[in-house]
Amino acid sequence: MEKKVKPHTKAVHAGDRKRSGSHVPVTTPINNAVSYFYESMEQLDRVFGREEPGFSYSRYDNPTNQALEELCAALESGHGALACSSGMAAIHVALLTALTDRPKSIVAANAIYGATVSLLMTVLEPMGVAVRFVDICDLAEVERAIAEVKPGCLLMETVSNPLLRVGQIDRVAALAKGAGAALIVDNTFATPLLVRPIELGANMVVHSLTKFLAGHGDVLGGVVVSDAAHYDTLRSLSRIFGPVLGPFESYLAMRGIKTFAVRVERQCANACRVASWLAARPEIARVYFPADPAHPDAAAIRRLLPDSLYGAVVSFELKDAARTEVFRFMNALRLVVPATSLGDVHSMMLYPAMSSHREISPKHRERMGIRDSLVRLSLGIEAVEDILADLEQALSAVSEKSSATTVV
Ligand SMILES: *Cc1c(COP(=O)(O)O)cnc(C)c1O
Repeated sequence: MEKKVKPHTKAVHAGDRKRSGSHVPVTTPINNAVSYFYESMEQLDRVFGREEPGFSYSRYDNPTNQALEELCAALESGHGALACSSGMAAIHVALLTALTDRPKSIVAANAIYGATVSLLMTVLEPMGVAVRFVDICDLAEVERAIAEVKPGCLLMETVSNPLLRVGQIDRVAALAKGAGAALIVDNTFATPLLVRPIELGANMVVHSLTKFLAGHGDVLGGVVVSDAAHYDTLRSLSRIFGPVLGPFESYLAMRGIKTFAVRVERQCANACRVASWLAARPEIARVYFPADPAHPDAAAIRRLLPDSLYGAVVSFELKDAARTEVFRFMNALRLVVPATSLGDVHSMMLYPAMSSHREISPKHRERMGIRDSLVRLSLGIEAVEDILADLEQALSAVSEKSSATTVV
């Protein structure tokens, strides 16, 4: 599909309507067959040898996955894609692809998804991969780390979790390129509606499809979208160790993606309203949201994010609150779901100190700026008035309880 076509249009057209014998299904069916039959051994031989397009075995290629991959590649302006069984599987195969013929060392943003930190430190580092964490928003620090580590790969997220810092992908990409390193960007929080990192110079983009792209909280999946230079290595590694998505999950992900642009627009609008409502509330100590003119990365945000689309995640600190008060607040929620994950059609709230950043010591968490009073809210597509009413009643439940304790 043409690059200039808008994400909304790509989302409902790309990948679909492949001829299958005499007919063309309008939407992509679930293809469960593991292997494929050809009229002659000669033809099967050519398919196996990739001299002729076709399917031979589902770990290599599958028509449902192929449709999803084409869709994701179109959305992220990539050369091709690989559908994976989870976001973590996608990050793993992307890192191995980047390091295949490069130095076995990685410079990674320090504010990244918890399991990604574990992948780097408990899987890759013990295998001899050197890992250096940096503040990816500090380009001088990134440059110094590149000079010292001489990495084969740089890894960052478009919008960090949970403090929503926004790095300058284009400038980091230029530094990576100058050093001969690949840049991998986890674009899960931003989605291709907001930012398309490959257009800014990244080599591979990864997503947890589980979040905004599939969007309904009913499928675990991931994808790597790659530039032309890394695509063949990506696919051949995948053929060997098989981190691939199943066709049923692939179908669900593709069905979800058709509405992602409309959902994310609505979710972003809800997030803007909720962030400004929270900022005016006396019970809230601090709001983290990329639309804030005082955001530490305001200049990068103005340059890289579209007007009025700042993502659908808002983090905030409750005033004078620790774990007990935060639990009381989250227990009082009636509509917003207090559960792990984000990007679903329903609003969800997570307590980083208890979940995503649980394994990190309280002192280290404090240094990262993740306080015990901090919660992360992922906005759904509900009517914003209902979300605000739920937050208001939950906030008053906390203050009623605390004033009651003061009296006693
Ligand atoms: C959830 C998430 C992942 C991991 O994805 P899974 O599908 O859970 O494996 C990676 N990166 C980010 C930013 C995420 O939010």
